Amino acid sequence: MMPAVETRSTPVPQGDTLFVAGEWRAAARAGERFDPSRPERSTGLFAAAAAADVEDAYAAAVAAAPAWAATPAPARAELLRRAADCLAARAEAAALRLTADMGKAIGDARAEVRRGAAILRYFAGELEQPIGETYASADPATALSTFEQPLGVACVITPWNFPVAIPLWKLAPAIGFGNTVVWKPAEAASGSAVLLAEVLADAGLPAGVLNLITGHGSELSAALTGAERLAAITFTGSGTVGTRLRQAVADRNVKVQLELGGKNPAIVLADADLADAALQVTRGAMLATGQRCTATSRVYVERPVADEFARLLADQVGRLVVGDPFDEATQVGPLASAEQAATVAEYFALARAEGARVIAGDLAATAEGCFAVPTVIADVAPDSRVVREEVFGPLLVLFVVDDLEDALGAANETDFGLSSAIFTRDLGKAMRFVRETQTGLVHVNRETAGVEPHVPFGGVKGSSSLSREQGKAARQFFTTTKTVYLRST
Ligand code: NAD
Repeated sequence: MMPAVETRSTPVPQGDTLFVAGEWRAAARAGERFDPSRPERSTGLFAAAAAADVEDAYAAAVAAAPAWAATPAPARAELLRRAADCLAARAEAAALRLTADMGKAIGDARAEVRRGAAILRYFAGELEQPIGETYASADPATALSTFEQPLGVACVITPWNFPVAIPLWKLAPAIGFGNTVVWKPAEAASGSAVLLAEVLADAGLPAGVLNLITGHGSELSAALTGAERLAAITFTGSGTVGTRLRQAVADRNVKVQLELGGKNPAIVLADADLADAALQVTRGAMLATGQRCTATSRVYVERPVADEFARLLADQVGRLVVGDPFDEATQVGPLASAEQAATVAEYFALARAEGARVIAGDLAATAEGCFAVPTVIADVAPDSRVVREEVFGPLLVLFVVDDLEDALGAANETDFGLSSAIFTRDLGKAMRFVRETQTGLVHVNRETAGVEPHVPFGGVKGSSSLSREQGKAARQFFTTTKTVYLRST
């Protein structure tokens, strides 16, 4: 049975989900959210903001900016710590909300909420780190130093696949380093977004520092990117939308951070611990129903062990517990929406029509709702769409390769460059892979997914604007440096 998912501490009218200038308000129109495990069931409404709401949100963010920038960093750190405590206190409600929004297995949803609190605490600590440097000047009478200042007003646009972690790894540094924010979450993740905004408001965030605009991204694009005082956009989502956003601000001095899709390869060499590699590749490809930008979608296996690895992989994939995301035993819930389920089924049908052989699972046998059976296919041409494009579902393509050289060439033959993995006991081969793989994240004997908050995150090629998020990289994005020549007379 699905538990109750309403999360508001203070009941407000359904759909009253815009948070502007410290006040909750409704929009003229509302969108409806559906439980992906029971698409016939509505999980509530979200306010579908209009351009005028976005303009109000920017006005509030502009008005709040000077006082927030002047608030001492330790006070901002304290607020992030209180937000972490508030989120921890509402952890179960947040996990249920997240699962209802987009179908993530409840165990993974709980882990994501814990991670959200950890991200808030990490950035609270970052705010107590040095904010500048001192240099020797050529002039003995001059003290030469730098210090960081906030950028101003930042626009934060987030996807639905990590409704808590991704917003927080942008919001915590944006706000923490003294900026004010207009945040537009994905439609499907609006329920989780409202809960996070409540948490930050409950922690004592002054009015106007965070402004939440729920609604349809394509309708709000011009208002989101057109604001005169916009200083920065941080976006995670599809390449198509990311490119559009970059173009929209290209002729203005707006700092842009884009984290986009992935087509992440794993290489399994003959000397690897094959059982462990099969487990890691299965987890990397199938957990979160394959809807992670770092999910493994291609696996390249050295010929001598290809049959054995395929057998071990099929065994692991077959063991996955697929089902009701609210069931504690479930590892793989539904896809996030009917559209997502249709897209994944289409890629599978295309691959089958091109002659792909099924090694494990059968996406075509998927039951009703938005469920997708984790599936592995082989005998696919390298230029097939299923190999070149991001599927964003539990569909893994297996290739047999002659050696590391062959595997590296094929793995790098992609427009994306987010994450990659190699499985081997040979340190020399592992080090060569680390050097030559064209991705921003590299794993040795680990799945391609999995992110820690205190190290930089991001990709190369079509996966990123080459900026990095999280860790110390977040400081670089959300601040600007002032250089001070101070001469005594
Ligand atoms: P999406 O690009 O469709 O939407 C992302 C956000 O942009 C949503 O809030 C959406 O409402 C908004 N949006 C859509 N059109 C817009 C427009 N014209 N102007 C302004 N905003 C607009 O992506 P999605 O379907 O929500 O998420 C899945 C994608 O995100 C996948 O491609 C996945 O790989 C990617 N992703 C990347 C990372 C990463 O860090 N590299 C992490 C998670 C997800």
